[in-house]
Amino acid sequence: MTFRDLNLNTPLHNAIDDLGFETPTPIQTESFNVVASGKDVVGIAQTGTGKTFAYMLPILKNLKYSTQDNPRVLVLVPTRELVVQVVNEIEKLSKYINNRVLGVYGGTNINTQKQAVAQGLDIIVATPGRLYDLAVSRVLQLKSIQKLVIDEVDVMLDLGFRHQLMNIFDILPPRRQNIMFSATMTTDVDALITDFFINPSKISIAVSGTPLENITQQRYNIPNFYTKVNLLEEILHDKETFSRVLIFVAYKRMADRLFDKLEELFPSETCVIHSNKTQNYRLRSIEQFREGTNRLLVATDVMARGLDIDDVSHVINFDTPDYPENYMHRIGRTGRAERKGVTILLSTEKEQESRERIEELMKMKINILDIPEYVEVSKELIEEERNVIKERHNPTKRREEDSPGPAFHEKSEKNQKVNLGGSYRREIAKKYKKPKTRGDKNYNRRKKK
Ligand code: AMP
Repeated sequence: MTFRDLNLNTPLHNAIDDLGFETPTPIQTESFNVVASGKDVVGIAQTGTGKTFAYMLPILKNLKYSTQDNPRVLVLVPTRELVVQVVNEIEKLSKYINNRVLGVYGGTNINTQKQAVAQGLDIIVATPGRLYDLAVSRVLQLKSIQKLVIDEVDVMLDLGFRHQLMNIFDILPPRRQNIMFSATMTTDVDALITDFFINPSKISIAVSGTPLENITQQRYNIPNFYTKVNLLEEILHDKETFSRVLIFVAYKRMADRLFDKLEELFPSETCVIHSNKTQNYRLRSIEQFREGTNRLLVATDVMARGLDIDDVSHVINFDTPDYPENYMHRIGRTGRAERKGVTILLSTEKEQESRERIEELMKMKINILDIPEYVEVSKELIEEERNVIKERHNPTKRREEDSPGPAFHEKSEKNQKVNLGGSYRREIAKKYKKPKTRGDKNYNRRKKK
């Protein structure tokens, strides 16, 4: 497959030739026709796979020259760095195309950006907050947007931008193509797709380029959180073998919970990253892990994917990811650059289905190990493992806190409000003669005395 096989036009071919790119990456090959067809698209691909070109090539190919001022393509990204990077990539491709591209992001003077918007543009690349502010100020008109791209949507949702995305969806024309790229699939991403996308085509390049032969995969069936912790306690004592261990969990609360436990067991050897930690905290954690000051790093899927750390001896999947693509991304953090890596997957009873999906995707079974006898099996459950949470959403059952309780008693007869279907005015009219004039009102008052 070469770029000639993609149905590009001459200006795009020339730009690509100038860049010296010869073959499209897998995500580019797979996305081209689907994005060009105008259908809603969800692409699962990591940074570095060429995903920016994957959506921009078909968009640029179909974007006709126009002199109108309002943008027709909107690209939303989570960070200002990404705005700059995406604008840069679009400019590279647009070398022989006459189009106007603008990047806007928060933390800088909005007036300068307003002036730039007022000049007229075809493509706007933005962080959600700043885009919304510009739209609300009416300088930026979104009524001509035909294509919405949301890039790194997993990071965006993890950083809490869902609400801002909703606000933006509200002011966009309903007839538009939605294109979304995410490195990981999460429940939040899934919910967004279900709510706002129309029957999207899904393109996934699951295997992140790491040859599976370099990775030894193992797994344990294990009943619950605390038993998982007990197992880690036992195996992680072997500091020589477990020299640099990346431990994945699905969400922030779990990351904190596990970090607290490991910090108790292995003080000054453990660090954690997730999106509720400050940028400085995250950078420090990564640095300590990279230098080897800390041997164990607990991370959520979304945060760990940008990490470029060599020599990870073990990847531990503390939980079994719901989406098999995430498992592939996780294990791809080890076994890099020809080195051997080991991965361990921990699955409870409930997680077995997800584990089966992973094995299906890889078309191979993961080697199962017995829990060593000396690992204590805990009976204690964490909140998520008890069924109470499910009960809360059961509409047929009355929740404990909703029951009337001891303070509740029937009102006395005279205090009970009975709805006779009439208004207060009618009751008053019944009691007094209906006033017709001010004078009548005074008459009633006098009569009352
Ligand atoms: P991205 O995944 O979009 O962040 O792209 C990663 C890098 O790969 C960027 O610097 C692109 O310029 C570059 N790139 C994109 N497509 C290709 C290609 N087909 N061949 C070589 N490099 C590419």
